[in-house]
Amino acid sequence: MELVKTEPLKTEYRCLFSLYQETGSAGPRERIMPGVDFNVLRTEITMEQVLNQLGFQPTSRSGNQLHGPCPVHGSTSSGTRTFSVNLDSGRYYCHKCQSHGNQLELWAAVNKLSMYEAAIDLCRVLGREVPWIGRW
Ligand SMILES: [Zn+2]
Repeated sequence: MELVKTEPLKTEYRCLFSLYQETGSAGPRERIMPGVDFNVLRTEITMEQVLNQLGFQPTSRSGNQLHGPCPVHGSTSSGTRTFSVNLDSGRYYCHKCQSHGNQLELWAAVNKLSMYEAAIDLCRVLGREVPWIGRW
C-alpha cells in the first residue's frame, strides 16, 4: 500500500481555509473544497471497515451479500434485514429508508455528514491520513 505524503502543517491550513470558504461562498460545496482524493479512500477503505466501525451485525449472509438492521435509519429490532450490502461491489441499499451508495456515502448517511466531512471523519476514526489532493 502506498501512502500519500502530506505535510501536517499544510493539511491543517487547508482545513481552516476550507471552512472559511464554506461560509463565504454559495457555490457547489465539492468544487470549492480543497481536494480530498475520494478515489484513494474508496480503494483503501473497504465497506467491511465501515460496517465494523458502525458495529453492524448482519442477520444473514449469503456469499458476500449481507443483510441486517439499517444503521442509517436506525432499525433496532434484531431480526430486521431491510439493509443489504454487497461486499464485492462495496454498495449498500436499505429497502425501508431507500438510503444507498458506497462505503463513504454510508458513513456520511449514518453520521449526517457531507461527503467531504465524512471522508475526513472516517480517516480520523480509522486513524489514517486524509489523502489530500495537492492542487495548490
Ligand atoms: Zn434504512
